[in-house]
Amino acid sequence: MKKVLLITLLLVMAVFVMAQRLTIVHINDTHGHIWPEGEYGGLAAVATLINQVRAENPNTIFLHAGDINTGVPESDLQDAAPDIVALNLMKLEAMAIGNHEFDNDASVLAKQMEIANFPFLSANIYKDGEPAFQEYLIKEVAGIKVAIVGFTAQETEILEYLYAKDYEWKDVIEVAEEIIPELEAQADVIIALTHMGSNPVLVGPNSWELAKAVDGIDVIVDGHSHTFYERPEIINETIIVSAGEWAKNLGKLELEIVDGTVIFVSFRNLPVIAEEIEPDFAVATVLDYFKKAGGEALNIVVGETTIKLEGDRGVVRAQDTNLGYLICDAMVWKSGADIAISNSGGIRASIEAGPITYRDILTVLPFGNTLYVVDVPGTSLREVLQFTATREAGQGAMPQVSGVTYVIENGEAKDILVNGAPIDDNKVYKVATNNYLASGGDGYEALAGLSGYDTGFVLADVVVEFVGEISPITGYQDSGRITRK
Ligand SMILES: [Zn+2]
Repeated sequence: MKKVLLITLLLVMAVFVMAQRLTIVHINDTHGHIWPEGEYGGLAAVATLINQVRAENPNTIFLHAGDINTGVPESDLQDAAPDIVALNLMKLEAMAIGNHEFDNDASVLAKQMEIANFPFLSANIYKDGEPAFQEYLIKEVAGIKVAIVGFTAQETEILEYLYAKDYEWKDVIEVAEEIIPELEAQADVIIALTHMGSNPVLVGPNSWELAKAVDGIDVIVDGHSHTFYERPEIINETIIVSAGEWAKNLGKLELEIVDGTVIFVSFRNLPVIAEEIEPDFAVATVLDYFKKAGGEALNIVVGETTIKLEGDRGVVRAQDTNLGYLICDAMVWKSGADIAISNSGGIRASIEAGPITYRDILTVLPFGNTLYVVDVPGTSLREVLQFTATREAGQGAMPQVSGVTYVIENGEAKDILVNGAPIDDNKVYKVATNNYLASGGDGYEALAGLSGYDTGFVLADVVVEFVGEISPITGYQDSGRITRK
């Protein structure tokens, strides 16, 4: 009896020695949404949840799958410093580099990496033949060696027209095929921290295709497509998870590591509901401070004009104006598109002569619309411009344009020139617009359903950046793009 008990005890102990519980908590695509917002509690509430998970299991790793930048003015204006300081306090282990980490020039990214206590990981971004960023880290958790390797969507090269082209965007599968076996030799668990998404992408694989193509990845913690996972996707023995967007959820994946084998235990996206979660005091205090600083920062001067930039409702909905041109020019500048088309209904105010503040531009463009690029065949472009020719003064659908000139006469769009050349029906033009029109909003149905992509750039931010480039504004073209006869 005694002997049996002892053997049982030994067996139980042996199981405990070999099996280790590893918990991964993760967020992605926070985009500056770090403060409480509506029903969601922000990062201070996330911190409380993570503390609870860590109390249950000290062998917990906290990861961010990329895109901290762009989406909330108070964060954007401080170059996501509030986000990073909060993530430092929350002891983030590592972050994948997302495409939006290239929304600003390289000096901003460098500064962000400097204040972060965690590495920004990506193994497939190269510069001068060398990896441009830290590729991976290996961490020992209760005797288990865990490798975390970053990968970034190759389509970043296209999405981030301005600041991603200084890098070489390597094929993720090729890089992974080399690096994963190297990591397998050094670690028990391999986590790919990816910003690749599970939607169709413009170039390269998405995260599911990576899992399918490359053996040996135990877990993929993904971001980019803002996908909420009800349960993990399991492909080629790789467990794939993601936590939606904006820190609305905290992903919690529990694994058991038995003799180097990774066993799935459970997964849940925990909702970060403000009402139910006491905010973590330290994180909340720091974020409150930054929120105030960000609010004051909205008053910072981003440029200067000596002329009025016309956005008065009655004017901008009747004709093309210098402000309409400026906004459309900014869209072309940021996206590299051939032309831009915007709706006057999105322009909500003028900018008076004098210094221009960030707040002024948010007043002009308050909707948080994003910059969208659509591939528009010449024939469809004709249709779009023809539609604009039938709009009447006062309608929000009245157009503002860049890179194209045309004449409207008797409800007909004619003499269409694209960057000075007659429109070519057989050519496909890259047209920058906003996400609203790209989905066919305001009657722009000819734009809906065409191939294209959302750059994720907030239009107001694009204009802020462009105004900074061209200031002081002492004159701006204010007629001649759309001629009404
Ligand atoms: Zn992204």
